[in-house]
Amino acid sequence: MNKTEMIYEGKAKKVFSTDDDSLVIVSYKDDATAFNGLKKGTIAGKGAVNNRMSNMLMQLLEKEGIPTHFVKELSDRETLVKRVKIVPLEVIIRNVSAGSFAKRYGVEEGIPFDEPTIEFSYKNDELGDPLINSYHALALKLATKEEIETIKKYSFKINEVLKAYFLALNVRLIDFKLEFGRLPDGKIVLADEISPDTCRFWDKNTNEKLDKDRFRRDMGGVEDAYKEIFGRINANK
Ligand code: UDP
Repeated sequence: MNKTEMIYEGKAKKVFSTDDDSLVIVSYKDDATAFNGLKKGTIAGKGAVNNRMSNMLMQLLEKEGIPTHFVKELSDRETLVKRVKIVPLEVIIRNVSAGSFAKRYGVEEGIPFDEPTIEFSYKNDELGDPLINSYHALALKLATKEEIETIKKYSFKINEVLKAYFLALNVRLIDFKLEFGRLPDGKIVLADEISPDTCRFWDKNTNEKLDKDRFRRDMGGVEDAYKEIFGRINANK
C-alpha cells in the first residue's frame, strides 16, 4: 500500500491517503504536547512504542468483540487503518481518581472507585475540549442516541479487557481516553490510539507513573517509562 498524500497532521500523528479510498496510513511521531498544545517537546522512541502498543491492544480488543480501525502494521511507526469519520467526542473512562478529575472535584489522586466512570469532552481545540454530557452531545448533533449507547457499551467493555490485561503486567490502569469513528456504512469502530499518551498507567507495587504524566509534570524518566511499559507488554507475548 502506497502513501499518496498527507491529508492531516496532528500533534502526535500524520495521516496519509492511499491508493485505496477506504484505507489510510497513520504515521506516529515522537512529538509530544500537553495542556492543549501549550507545552511541546519530543520523547525519543515514543512514536514506535505508541504505534506498536496501540496495534497490539486493538488486536486484543478485536478478539474480545470490539470492532476497531486496525488493518495492518506496516513498520515501527506506520499502520494501515480503515478510513473513518471521527465522532468529535473524547471518551474518558476512570478507575481511580487522577488528573483533571482530582483537580475538578478537589480530591487527591489515587482514590479507587467502586465503579468506573465515563465522561465526554467535545473534541474542539479552539474551545479547549470542553466537558459535555450525552444530552449536550445529542443537542450539538455530535452523535445519535444509538451511537452514544454503542460508544458507552464498547468503552466499559474495553476498560474491563484492558484492566485485566495490564494487571497481569503488574500495571494499574488508572484512566484513559478513547476516540471512535464511523465507517462509510455507519458502523462505529474504535479509532485513534491506546498508548501511554492516552492512558495513565501506574506500577502496581510502587505506583510509579509509566505514562505521559512524566512529561506533563516534568518528572524526568519519560523515555524510560515508555520503554518500561512496552517492555512488559513484549515480555508477556
Ligand atoms: N487524555 C488524553 N487526551 C486529552 C485529555 C486526556 O489522552 O486530550 C487522557 C489522559 O492521558 C488520561 C485520561 O485521558 O489518561 C484522563 O485525563 P484527564 O481528564 O485527567 O486530563 P489531564 O489531567 O490529562 O488534563
